Amino acid sequence: MPSTTFASLTTLRLGGPAEHFLTISTPANWADAVRTIGQRHEQAPVVLGHGSNVIASDSGHPGTVVVMNTRGITATRSDDTTVDVTVQAGHPLSDLIAWAATEHLAGIECLAGIPGTTGAAPVQNTGAYGQQVSDTLDHLTAWDWDMGRLRTLPAQACRLRHRDSRFKNDPSRWTILTATFRLTRSPASPITYQPLADELGASLGARPPVAEVTAAVLANRHRRGLLLDPHGPAARQAGSVFLNPPVTATQATRLSATGCPVHTDNDGQLRASAGWLLEHIGYRPGYKIASGIRCSERRTLTLTAHDGATSTGFAQALTKLSAQVEIATGVSLRPEPMLVGDWA
Ligand SMILES: Cc1cc2nc3c(=O)[nH]c(=O)nc-3n(C[C@H](O)[C@H](O)[C@H](O)COP(=O)(O)OP(=O)(O)OC[C@H]3O[C@@H](n4cnc5c(N)ncnc54)[C@H](O)[C@@H]3O)c2cc1C
Repeated sequence: MPSTTFASLTTLRLGGPAEHFLTISTPANWADAVRTIGQRHEQAPVVLGHGSNVIASDSGHPGTVVVMNTRGITATRSDDTTVDVTVQAGHPLSDLIAWAATEHLAGIECLAGIPGTTGAAPVQNTGAYGQQVSDTLDHLTAWDWDMGRLRTLPAQACRLRHRDSRFKNDPSRWTILTATFRLTRSPASPITYQPLADELGASLGARPPVAEVTAAVLANRHRRGLLLDPHGPAARQAGSVFLNPPVTATQATRLSATGCPVHTDNDGQLRASAGWLLEHIGYRPGYKIASGIRCSERRTLTLTAHDGATSTGFAQALTKLSAQVEIATGVSLRPEPMLVGDWA
C-alpha cells in the first residue's frame, strides 16, 4: 500500500512523506494526540486542514503531521437576534456557510466557496467579497504547544489583520481546536463589494436574505474561476498565490495612473492588485512559468500544477515572479500559501 504523503492531503497534490500522519476525527482524540507527540519528543506537529493554502516540501516532514478532521456545530442563543456558533476545527467551512444560510444566520455568507476547514480560517483571517473571519469571530480554543495547555483566545488576542494573524506568524505554537462565531438572525450583512452588488442586482448597502447572498457569491466565484473543481484543468492549485501588496500613497497614485486597481482594505491599508501587477509584466492566463507550473486558464494570479511539477519548482516560480514584479514596479509581493514541512 502506498504510504501517505503531503501530496495526497493538499490541493496542489505536491509534497513528500512525513514520519507520522495523525488524523484527529473527534475532539476526544486530542488528549491522546498530545500524549503521542510528547512521547515522540516533538516540540509541535505540522497541522493540516484541507491543504488548500499550503506548499508542502518535496522532502516531507521528519515528524508528525496532524490532520484536523473533527466535525460539529453547536449553536447557543445569546439573545433574541444573536447566536454563538462553536465549530470544530476540521468542519468544512463550506458546510458551515451552507448551514448558516439554512438557519438564516448572517455574518459569514460572503465566505461561501472558500475551500478548507473552519479551524484554518482564522489563520489567515480568511475573507472575500468584503467580509472576513475577524468580522464575526468571537473567540477560539487552541492548544498552545509552548505552554503545553489548552487556551481560550478572544478574537482580539488572535491579532487578525488582512490575511494575517498571530497563528500565521507563529505556526509551530498553535493548533486551533474550535472557533466560535457570533452570528445574527437577520438579513445578510450590508453588501460592500461592487461585483457582489452587481451579481445580486442590488445596490451597495443592501441586505438581501442570507441564502441569496450565499448563492450570489457562489455564482460569482464560479464565473470568475474562483471555485476549486477537483476534476477540472485547474484542480491542482492553492488559490491566489500572492496577497494584494500594501502600497504607499505615492505608489498608489503612480500605479493607479497606469491602470492598476488599488483599494483600501478593512485595516485602512492601501493595496494594489497582485493579479494586475503580474499581467503588467506580461503574464497571462495559461502562461507556462516553469516545468509543470502554469497560470490557470482562467486567472493569472492562480498557478496550477501539472505533470512534472515539484514543490521546490512551485516555490521557485513564486520567487521568480515576485522578483520580476519588484524590478518592474518597485512593489514586493508576498506569497499567500504557507510553506509546510522541511524546507531546510
Ligand atoms: C480555489 C481556492 C480559492 C480560495 N479562495 C480564498 C479566498 O477567497 N479568500 C481566502 O482568504 N482564502 C482563499 N483560499 C485559500 C484557502 O482556501 C484558505 O486560506 C483556507 O482557510 C485554508 O483552509 P485549509 O483547511 O485548506 O488550510 P490548510 O491549507 O490545510 O492550512 C493552511 C495553514 O493553516 C494552518 N492550519 C490549518 N489548520 C489549522 C488548525 N486547526 N490550527 C492551526 N493551524 C492550522 C496550516 O498549518 C497552514 O499553515 C482559496 C484557496 C483555493 C484553492
